[in-house]
Amino acid sequence: METYRLYIDGHFVDAEGGRTKPSINPFDGEAIADIPVASPGDAEKAIAAARRAFDEGPWPGMSGEERSALIGALAARMKERQKELAANEARDSGGTIAKCGADAYLAQRQMAWFGEMAKRYNAEAREIEGMSRPGRSFNYTIREPIGVCASIIPWNFPLLMAVWKLGPALATGNTVVLKPASDTPLNALELARIVDEIGFPPGVINIIAGPGGSIGEAMTTSPLVDKVAFTGSTEVGRDIMAKAAGTLKKVTLECGGKSANIVLHDANWDIAVDGSIFASFYHQGQVCESGTRLLLPKDQHDEFVGQMVAKLEALPMGDPLDPATRLGPVVSERHMATVLDYIELGKKEGATLACGGARATEGPLGKGYFIQPTVFTDVTNDMRIAQEEIFGPVLCVLRYDSEEEAVSIANDSIFGLGGGVWSEDLDHAREIAARLRTGTVWINDWHLLSERMPFGGYKQSGIGREFGEEGLNEYTEVKALHVDDTRTRDNKPWYDMLVPREKTDA
Ligand code: NAD
Ligand code: MN
Repeated sequence: METYRLYIDGHFVDAEGGRTKPSINPFDGEAIADIPVASPGDAEKAIAAARRAFDEGPWPGMSGEERSALIGALAARMKERQKELAANEARDSGGTIAKCGADAYLAQRQMAWFGEMAKRYNAEAREIEGMSRPGRSFNYTIREPIGVCASIIPWNFPLLMAVWKLGPALATGNTVVLKPASDTPLNALELARIVDEIGFPPGVINIIAGPGGSIGEAMTTSPLVDKVAFTGSTEVGRDIMAKAAGTLKKVTLECGGKSANIVLHDANWDIAVDGSIFASFYHQGQVCESGTRLLLPKDQHDEFVGQMVAKLEALPMGDPLDPATRLGPVVSERHMATVLDYIELGKKEGATLACGGARATEGPLGKGYFIQPTVFTDVTNDMRIAQEEIFGPVLCVLRYDSEEEAVSIANDSIFGLGGGVWSEDLDHAREIAARLRTGTVWINDWHLLSERMPFGGYKQSGIGREFGEEGLNEYTEVKALHVDDTRTRDNKPWYDMLVPREKTDA
């Protein structure tokens, strides 16, 4: 079995006391690798290394071109090892090889894009127009790195989330301590091996695996950390923000969602039925911006649900490594129990099961953590299954009378991450989209994100953005510069305010 180590200050090291634990394949419950379990002491070593690399190392002062070359080399190596990373991801997370293959492709492409962006964050000056009067002063801003970033990521997109955190931090000249989720540490630790081959200055990238509670605490409270970047549940996001408050760290949070998928009366069902399945059941529903509340016009409800259920029941479930598999297991036994509890809750709350509703155990599925794709109808928006994130293959269907009502149901949520509208009338769909209080809206589509577009949440779905210019800016401080162009007394407004002006010409 493969053994991994922590990556701290440019070295592979064991966790304190040599503690390890197996990483599990959710398809069959088998151990696939031996993973170090970092202690708070290990986290402190990683943070100290990142601090030294920022304060004393060459990294933050390098030119954008130099940093770009290293990030580009990292992307190129990730591309060469794409297939292997995809297979690791499928075995560690239960994501299908179709999904993990797409992720491994996107991961290297996005890292390459961050490498390109690094060239732009070379203390590029932005002149503030209108303030600089000829013969007086020149005013401009520059963006500088924040410092040490503590990055904490979830288990649903282990490799992509690592890229989303490392890419912008590195492109803008920060140093990083990255912590993968305990259920899916493999690819972050594999990435450490690739990073090591490239030759970043020691301490710029540190990757440690361990429990969120204990090492997360060190990462969010250490006075040596300047920024915390987190993706995960809203509950943990709140806790992280509270802990980071003690030292007023910069915080970006990408948290949960309960996104509304609105099918309008004139939607093209040729794509809307499959699209609604994709919106909610991709990666077994373990995607933060999934369309987990499907809003259907009352008079089309039964027919639409009927078509969906027939297709869902035919989706092949099985080994994530089999290219024919469309639904894999959920990530862990513990998470399976949580999702099954929500299904029980839905029944108690009075929703109707249109399909699924239980663990799937036929044949080889019995050893893994499989849940039947589940659709609840007769859901009302005040039910807990409509308000809370289930993060599994469970869809809630709600009926609406008017579009007014659909918009109001969509916005009646503490979350605001994704959302979607299906309609043949694009202008009208855009009017509806404008009324949704949410960070991303897809019209006749779902899940597609681009490194060039900002992604993030309204309301309790998060703080800040990832990707795009907005996302890169989250990793910078802004410095304002005022340069006196004249170097004479004549134009200084502060004479006569405090210092008496000496009459030089008298
Ligand atoms: P989680 O919040 O339990 O864990 C996320 C990460 O935080 C893990 O690395 C975990 O070890 C760590 N952690 C746990 N407790 C911590 C603490 N007290 N302090 C510091 N770190 C701690 O979430 P999860 O179960 O891994 O992932 C699923 C959740 O993530 C879902 O709610 C989903 O919506 C959300 N998510 C959001 C996005 C997004 O972009 N908005 C993306 C993916 C997942
Ligand atoms: Mn695993």
